[in-house]
Parts: sequence; structure tokens; C-alpha cells
Amino acid sequence: MAAPMLTGMPAPGVDLVIREAHVLDPNTGLDGVHDVVVRGGEIAEIAAPGTATVPDGAEAVSGERRHLLPGFFDPHVHLRTPGHEHKEHIETGTRSAAAGGYCAVVAMPNTDPVLDSAPLLSALRDAARRDARVPVGFMPAITRGLQGTELTEMAELRDEGAVGFTDDGKPVVSAGMLRRAMRYQKLCGGVLALHEEDPSLSGRGVMHEGEVSARLGLSGIPSLSEAVMVARDAMLAREEEARTHFQHLSAWQTVEALAAAKAAGAPVSGEASPHHLLLTDEAVLSLDTRMKMNPPLRTERDRQAIIAGLRDGTIECIATDHAPHAADEKDVPFEEAPMGTTGLETAFAAVYTGLVRPGILPLALVVERLTAGARLVGLPTPRIARGAPANLCLVDLETTWQVGESGYESRSDNCCFAGRRLHSRVLLTIAAGAVAYRERSFALSAA
Ligand SMILES: [Zn+2]
Repeated sequence: MAAPMLTGMPAPGVDLVIREAHVLDPNTGLDGVHDVVVRGGEIAEIAAPGTATVPDGAEAVSGERRHLLPGFFDPHVHLRTPGHEHKEHIETGTRSAAAGGYCAVVAMPNTDPVLDSAPLLSALRDAARRDARVPVGFMPAITRGLQGTELTEMAELRDEGAVGFTDDGKPVVSAGMLRRAMRYQKLCGGVLALHEEDPSLSGRGVMHEGEVSARLGLSGIPSLSEAVMVARDAMLAREEEARTHFQHLSAWQTVEALAAAKAAGAPVSGEASPHHLLLTDEAVLSLDTRMKMNPPLRTERDRQAIIAGLRDGTIECIATDHAPHAADEKDVPFEEAPMGTTGLETAFAAVYTGLVRPGILPLALVVERLTAGARLVGLPTPRIARGAPANLCLVDLETTWQVGESGYESRSDNCCFAGRRLHSRVLLTIAAGAVAYRERSFALSAA
């Protein structure tokens, strides 16, 4: 039998009651004030406000003027273990996730060594069992060493609990190689998650190719670099009937290509990151290396297309692509800096502030998109329902805070939203039935 796909700390099931919170779960249709009782780590009761039966010895939390949401699920994070623990490790990365309201994350394989073998996957799962604050799934590489020339032992990796496969950070350049991966995937299951970029178009680009790159004299990565690969690989996915997920979409042409592929019946899905939803290449004018990521921040037209794609469901989920780097690695000229921004601690607040408060997207839709990643990678969607494992986050939508003002739970501080004033704060996260995070100033009391 295959191993379970998520591993985390074996947690004692928590007992608590959250009183009079506005419970919002688009997955179950809940949208109103309730008491929610968690017993032994499971959601035991969803009751009218003020009427819950409180288990003996349970903690009580006031949910008044607060929102109780299903815990978020991120199918795309970098925990940097093994090999880059100076940037992040399982404990800090999952602490960062819990602080952002996430109840589970999926880690990418571009580590040192690359996660491309069953023994390494097994060792990482042991480490997650020991150190993780929220359950972690792992996606090993599609090709050995991310080299694009030889497939990994996909069936063996699935038996060891691989969620799916990705060469994230790099595209699978050879269509023939990807087609073979799709045929193996059909035998062993698991999603294929693809970082889409045609290296012959992106070349040595360090930002989006357009007016801003021309003005700065920096080499650019054209939008087509992403879109042509999505078009190609969606066609392969349709032909091979292979569950395929496109990572961190950034370009308007890509949204069109994805919509067309879906209309034609391709079994494909897509994700958008908070930074592509909220920032454009204008942010690079500062030459702040926290604005350097891959795919790059693009134009307002691209940003609007990504928002529209998320709204109409062409893009099913929000994923952070949390990509921590050490301060000294980012503290170099723009051209030389590594690509990536952190994002777990700011995703909800940034999207809430930038898109929900101004009325661009409804809160319920954003919550749905922050949990949908689970289903896309074949895992149960976090939901607020009687009998479900408690995966919850309690947020205060009214609080404001400045990103970075009290540091980060992540080991890294390369956050593209640093210094911004954001609305909404995660107060409490319950992951797989255990308290994974509580805000420093937020205390639980006896019932
Ligand atoms: Zn990534």
C-alpha cells in the first residue's frame, strides 16, 4: 500500500471552542455566526451562537467580530531542505505557513541534493514527522537532478508517498520527455506540476521583457516564454489524458491558452501567486531585488488577466511559491540576485487588502481559491464540517499591520510586500487537529 501523502508532527488532538465567530466556508456553504467545537482534533459541533456544549478542560476562544475560515492549502512552497537550511528548513517554513493560516503545504524538489529518489523522500518525511508545524507533502522531481534527460522512478516515489512530480524552477524542455512522464503518471497516479518557460525565449532575462526592462536596460523574459509552453503541454496533457497543473501563471497569453485548453477538454489546472495578482513590473523600477522572481512581475494587462482568470475559475487556486533566500544573497545588484520572494505569512492579508477590500474579488471566492490547491493535487479540501479533521484559521479582518514590523516566522525576509500596511491578521491556525500557530498577543483562555 502507498504511504499517505501528508506528514506532520503527530499531534495531540486539541479540544477547544470558538465562540460566536463569523464562519465562512465556501466549500460547505457556511456563512454566518456560529460556535464551533473542536474535540480530539475533530470538528465536533457547529452550533448557534452561544449554545455550544463545551468539552471538559477545553480552551475557549472569542470569535466575536472575527472570521473563522477553513485552513488554507499551498501546493507550491520551497522549504529549502536538504542543502539550503540557511534560507529555510522544515520547522521555519511550516511555522511561516501556520502564521499565514495554512493547514498544509507541498514542498518543491529543487533542493541540494535534488529530491529525486525514494530514500531521500523517506528521510524528508521522517524529518517532517519530527519538525513540521503543519502537515507537509512532497513533490519529487520529474527528471533526475532536474536535468531533463532521465525520468525519476515515479512508481517507487509514489509508493513512498509522493504527492506528484515537478521540475519546478525549470521547465521540462523536451516534449518527448514530458510525454513519457505523462504515460508513467497514468500508471502510478499523482499530478504533474509544471514550471512553464521556454529557455530559448527567456534566455538570460532577469525581469519581464517590456517598456520597463527597456528603460532599465535589463534583459527581459517575454510573456510568450510561458504561454507557448503552456499551450504545448496542455496539448500533450489532452492527448495523454494526464492530470497536469500549471504553476505560477503570470501572462495574459497564458490565461487565454489555458482557457482554450480547458474548453477543448484538457485535464489541466492553474495557479496564481499573490505577487502576480498584486504587483507589476513597475515595482522593479526601484531595483529592489525582492521584486525579482521567476516568472517575473509583468504588466498591468497581465495582472488584470490573472485576476480575471482567478475570478472565472480558469485559474483554480492561489499558491504562494514561497521562495526564501538569505539576506546576503539578495543584497547584490539586481542582475545577480537569485529569483524568488517569500509569501506564506502575507498571502491572505495581501490578497484581502489588495483585492477583497476594494471589491475586486469576493472574500468567499478568495477563501475557496486558497483551499482549492488540495483537491488539485489529489488531497481532501480543508473544510468546516462536522466530523472533519480540524483545519481552521481565525482571522481578524479589521486589524492592520506593517509587513516585517515584528520580523518573520520564516528564516528569510525577502518578502516583496515588506513595509506595506496590510489589513487582516491571522490570530490562530489549527492544522490536522492541533494548534499550529497563535498570534503572540492572542491568548486562549479556559472555557
Ligand atoms: Zn517555485
